[in-house]
Amino acid sequence: MKKNHMHRGIVLAGMISLFLFVSGCGFMQAYQEIQFFAMDTLMQVELSGKKSDIEQIRKIVEDLEDDVSVTDVQSELYQINHRTVSAIELSKPIARLLNEELAITETTNGALNPALYPISCAWGFTTDHKRVPSAEELAALLPKTDWRQIQLSNQNLTLPDGMELDFGATAKGFASDLCADYLREQGIKHALLNFGGNTYTIGTNKKGEYWKIGIRDPWDETAQGMIGVLESTNEAVITSGSYERYFEQDGVRYHHIMDGTTGLPARTGLVSVTIVCESGVKADGLSTALFVMGLDQASNYWRQYKGFEAIFVTEDGKQYYTEGLENRYHPTQGQKAEVIRL
Ligand code: ADP
Ligand code: MG
Repeated sequence: MKKNHMHRGIVLAGMISLFLFVSGCGFMQAYQEIQFFAMDTLMQVELSGKKSDIEQIRKIVEDLEDDVSVTDVQSELYQINHRTVSAIELSKPIARLLNEELAITETTNGALNPALYPISCAWGFTTDHKRVPSAEELAALLPKTDWRQIQLSNQNLTLPDGMELDFGATAKGFASDLCADYLREQGIKHALLNFGGNTYTIGTNKKGEYWKIGIRDPWDETAQGMIGVLESTNEAVITSGSYERYFEQDGVRYHHIMDGTTGLPARTGLVSVTIVCESGVKADGLSTALFVMGLDQASNYWRQYKGFEAIFVTEDGKQYYTEGLENRYHPTQGQKAEVIRL
C-alpha cells in the first residue's frame, strides 16, 4: 500500500474540511476534497469547483480501473490477454493509452515495455505469492515479451499468441491525463490530483501559489519524509521507486521494476526517478523507463529528447536534477544534489 506524502504545510494530502475558495474577481467556488481507493492505492483530489466535478473525477478513475484490471474477467485488458483471435478492436481510451505508451517504448528502446506481464507474473508481483523464478523459467518467458510484435493501427491491435500486456507503468499517469482533460474542459483553475504519489497540478493552490510537491525520501520507511520540494503548475510530477513494491528472499531485495532484457528487477544504481512534464502517461512511462536505463543513459536520453525534466536519486544517497528545475526544485537541507546540464 502506498502512503500519501504529508509534511509541514506542504499541500500533498487532502484535508478533511470543506471551505470556500474566493478567487481574485470575487467569484466564489467551493473548495472540494475527496479521498478514495482505486488502482491499488489511495487517491486524493482537491479542487475548486462543483461537487459534481469531484464525483466525475472519481468516475473517470474508476472507469479506467475497470478497463485496465489484469484480474477482473470483465475488463478490457483481461479480454485482450485472454483473446481467442489475434486481432482485437480496442476502445478509444485504451487505444490512446497503448499508442502513447508505445511511443515511449520505441524511444527508450524497450526500457518501458507493456508486454512484460508474463515476467511480472512469474515473480508473483501480480499476486500475493512473490517468488524468485528460475533462470530457465525466465529464459522461456522472454521471447513472449517482444514489444516489436505489438501492432497497433488506430483502434486495431494485433498480438501474437502467448503475449500479454499490462499498463501498470502508465495507468495512473493516464488516469491523471483523463482527469486533467475534464478539469480543463470545465474551466477549473485550481486542482491537485494525487494518485498514490503520482501527482498532477492544475493552476495554483488556494493561496494563488504554485502547488508544492514533496519528493519522497526513498529511505524513510514511514513514507512521510522528503528529499526536496518542487513548485509545480499544470503538469504531472510522477515518481517510480524500487521501494514501492518489493520482497526479500535470502537477504536479497527484489523490486517490481523489471529489466526486459534479463527478466530481472532493474539494478542500475537508482532508487527513484521523478519525471516532470505536461503528460501524465509520459511522466509515468518515462519514470519507469529511465529507472531501468540508469543515470548515465537516462541523462543522455534527456539531452536527446528534452520535453521533460527529471530528478534522480542514486543508491549512494545523492540526487541529480535537470537544469530546467533549477529555480523551482528545492532539495531538503543537507541533501547532496547536483544539476544535470545539457
Ligand atoms: P508504481 O506505479 O508502482 O510506482 P511504476 O509506474 O514504475 O510503479 O510501474 C511499475 C509497474 O509497471 C509494475 O508493477 C509492472 O506492472 C509494470 N512494469 C514493471 N517493469 C516494467 C517495464 N520495464 N516496462 C513496463 N512496465 C513495467
Ligand atoms: Mg511509471
